[in-house]
Amino acid sequence: MTGKAGKIEVDGVAKVFGDPQRGFRAIDKVDLTIADGEFICIVGPSGCGKSTLIRMFAGLEHPSEGQIRIAHDNPDRPVTAMIFQQESAFPWLTVADNAAYGLRASGTWKGAESQERVDYFLQKTGLYSFRDFRPDQLSGGMKQRLSIARAFATNPEVLLMDEPFAALDEQNKLIMQEELATLWEEFRSTVVFITHDLDEALNIGDRIVLLTRKPTTVQRIIELDQQRPRDLNDPELDRIRADLHATIGTDAEDDPGVASSK
Ligand code: ADP
Ligand code: MG
Repeated sequence: MTGKAGKIEVDGVAKVFGDPQRGFRAIDKVDLTIADGEFICIVGPSGCGKSTLIRMFAGLEHPSEGQIRIAHDNPDRPVTAMIFQQESAFPWLTVADNAAYGLRASGTWKGAESQERVDYFLQKTGLYSFRDFRPDQLSGGMKQRLSIARAFATNPEVLLMDEPFAALDEQNKLIMQEELATLWEEFRSTVVFITHDLDEALNIGDRIVLLTRKPTTVQRIIELDQQRPRDLNDPELDRIRADLHATIGTDAEDDPGVASSK
């Protein structure tokens, strides 16, 4: 990772909402380098600016100070694709048409080749036999699988995920984390995954970036080298969890936002 420019370089980024001098300074200063192919988890108390940060990665918001640079290495691939916490499927389209939507909307639909790609990800996410269904016939987990299939089908260089599994129950959350990790191990796109669930980050991240409460800065960065699928009761992960909780404790003790289930 060292000695190589990052896929994503976040350089002195601040975000002030409203008046630049007297407005609300949500993000104070974030510096971060994310390597190509890395799976990075960003964790922080609720309201600290996680969504604001990832929206800036997606180009949906602009930094008030500093810069975000994302290397666009392959002009045939979109730079980013975003997966949100809330459902984002179109209710009037079938599962298959929803999964194809990203590719069609980006104007890169290549007929049979694209259809094959969409079908591949429908299969990978277990949705192929539901391809003629409408989203309201799917469970919450299946809807998030559909968002994942749609995003992967566009073959983005960077996959941006903002608390994608937050609405799921614990068991489904774990299943989705493992499925996502398996897909990522096959494709190795860079993933920026936002969560307020420390165990989720411990389960899937190559690194965990811990943000402070607002005005937000990077509090700590932890590297995880455990093989996936991970055992969340692994003693080393227990130690890291306790250590992170000790760090969070003083900063967010009255904020249940950053809480692990353990
Ligand atoms: P998180 O995702 O970590 O919960 P957000 O990024 O959604 O936090 O919000 C960070 C802070 O910025 C919050 O206090 C929120 O109210 C504020 N905020 C977010 N978007 C806007 C906006 N468009 N205008 C003003 N304040 C905003
Ligand atoms: Mg958010």
